[in-house]
Amino acid sequence: MGRIIGIDLGTTNSVVAYMDGNEPRIIVNEEGGRVTPSVVGFSKTGERFVGDVAKRQALINPDCTLHSVKRFIGKRSKEAKDELALVNYKVVEGRNGEVGFDVNGRVYSPPEISAMVLQKLKKSAEDFLGETVTEAIITVPAHFTDRQRQATKDAGTIAGLDVLRIINEPTAAALAFMHERKKSATIAVYDFGGGTFDISIVRVDRDVGEVRATRGDNSLGGNDIDGVIVEWLLQEFMNEHGMDISGERVARQRLLDAAERAKLELSSALETEVHLPFLMADQSGPKHLSRSLKRARFEQMIQPLLDRTIRECEKALADARLRPEDMDEVILVGGSSRIPRVKEMVRDLFRRPLNQSYNPDEVVAIGAAIQGGVLEGEVRSVTLLDVTSLSIGIEVEGRRFAKLIQRNTVIPTQCTRMLSTVIDNQRSVKIHVLQGEGALAAENVSLGDFELSGIEPGPRGAPRVEVKFFIDASGLLSVSAKDLRSGASSNITINSPTSFSKSELEELRDEASTFEKKQLEQGDLKDLRHQVEKVVMALEAMLREKRATLARNELTELEHAVKRGRMSLTKAADRTNLEEVYSWLRRVHGNLKDKLGSRPTVH
Ligand code: AMP
Repeated sequence: MGRIIGIDLGTTNSVVAYMDGNEPRIIVNEEGGRVTPSVVGFSKTGERFVGDVAKRQALINPDCTLHSVKRFIGKRSKEAKDELALVNYKVVEGRNGEVGFDVNGRVYSPPEISAMVLQKLKKSAEDFLGETVTEAIITVPAHFTDRQRQATKDAGTIAGLDVLRIINEPTAAALAFMHERKKSATIAVYDFGGGTFDISIVRVDRDVGEVRATRGDNSLGGNDIDGVIVEWLLQEFMNEHGMDISGERVARQRLLDAAERAKLELSSALETEVHLPFLMADQSGPKHLSRSLKRARFEQMIQPLLDRTIRECEKALADARLRPEDMDEVILVGGSSRIPRVKEMVRDLFRRPLNQSYNPDEVVAIGAAIQGGVLEGEVRSVTLLDVTSLSIGIEVEGRRFAKLIQRNTVIPTQCTRMLSTVIDNQRSVKIHVLQGEGALAAENVSLGDFELSGIEPGPRGAPRVEVKFFIDASGLLSVSAKDLRSGASSNITINSPTSFSKSELEELRDEASTFEKKQLEQGDLKDLRHQVEKVVMALEAMLREKRATLARNELTELEHAVKRGRMSLTKAADRTNLEEVYSWLRRVHGNLKDKLGSRPTVH
């Protein structure tokens, strides 16, 4: 078995870690960074960039730069309306009503884009560890639905990873705590990232942890805070210039960028300046925007968002039947937890100093690596019993929602339900599976439906079909059914419009792997051209410096080598040809260097 890597696939940034014996370590990427922006950029010519390079192109090419994709994963387009204001690229309706991103006329799904980020992390890990990596633990927000978890797993598969387990982000942070501290405590993990918020209350008894309650919001994070600042700047621009520029992509991207920078600065400074020269122009000339923003005003603007996180904390405490003062430790996770007002509010709620010894950007990936180590048997056994954060059930008469597995139930778990027919000789039953807490079916997330067919004919109510709902350790749901009269049993696939079929996944995985190979080849070719260029330059220097000392045949050889080398660089790339030229040039250079070394240099 190869090494299992732990991946925090974040809305804004992603991090990959591994276990070096009993020590978790962060893997640096090609650019030397410990975090990789979860951003994928496309050029008009079909080139693809992931991470820092993609993030840098956002300002000049906003339509083709996809960020915050995690806000859309596992969602249908009609469920993602709130997210549209936060991004600047084209979000369309993809296959079966799911979200799609239109880039240069091709529609990508969120798992495909997430897979590109995962591919980069996988490659960083392979380069760093010097071995092929095929297995991973990926983290998700605790409040992710089954559909969002499944879509994340699909992203892993497309990237060529076998996702051994999906674990909740706050749970991963708790694992890091358990691994390091080895002490009993009740901890609260407050996880406020770029796109999501989670709070988990965990009871740790040395090496066994139990999540007592978890709550959260999948549409609440640093993105929304940036959005509040953007709205304010748009309004200020409107007041000053009388122009609504909310629909202008490039201007909007600049505003988003400036908003995030202002927010980051306000975590350490009490005031910041936003300068956006030439933001727009009309017949009367260019329009600029320049404003200062005080931390006090910023805190007032974002207070409603922060209040939402505190309300979730209060609900989690109530679910766990604990008081704030029962917490021994409060751990902050996620970049947005660095905001001073956030720290102040969390401290006030729990009435205790915060544990800031963990790097909020890295602790989740560390926890995922530890979970990988546990599965590998490398790490001393730490067990963390997690819970399902949302109830699962089915639609019943009157379009109501009947919960079968309540939220905060320890996973893995299962539940059995007897179903029957409502009319005589009914041969099939359709079951609509939902996830959420609403009393009405429509108030919950639909996971899809399945049809149970082949029921033995009989009077209504007579057939007895046993349906089993099983939630595994990754929080993923599967359903199986058995007709008790015929004894026939079947595993049921829920027809969820957002998930891929096995063959679709294989096709996408092959496509991703072919693309990666091609990029590697292109990268190799670029390196080779660079090497050829270096030898040609060395030969040119030789020609300049030794010309006066060269015999006729040496001059001819040198001039010919320079000419052939330059020609090979201007022609369209042909690898074999370039390799041939390269080795010939090196030979010529080597021979002449030996011969001419002792002759005088003329400048
Ligand atoms: P994460 O998903 O944990 O990577 O968190 C990313 C989010 O944290 C982004 O919205 C960042 O803008 C935000 N963030 C990172 N550092 C800070 C900071 N010092 N102050 C405020 N927000 C921050």
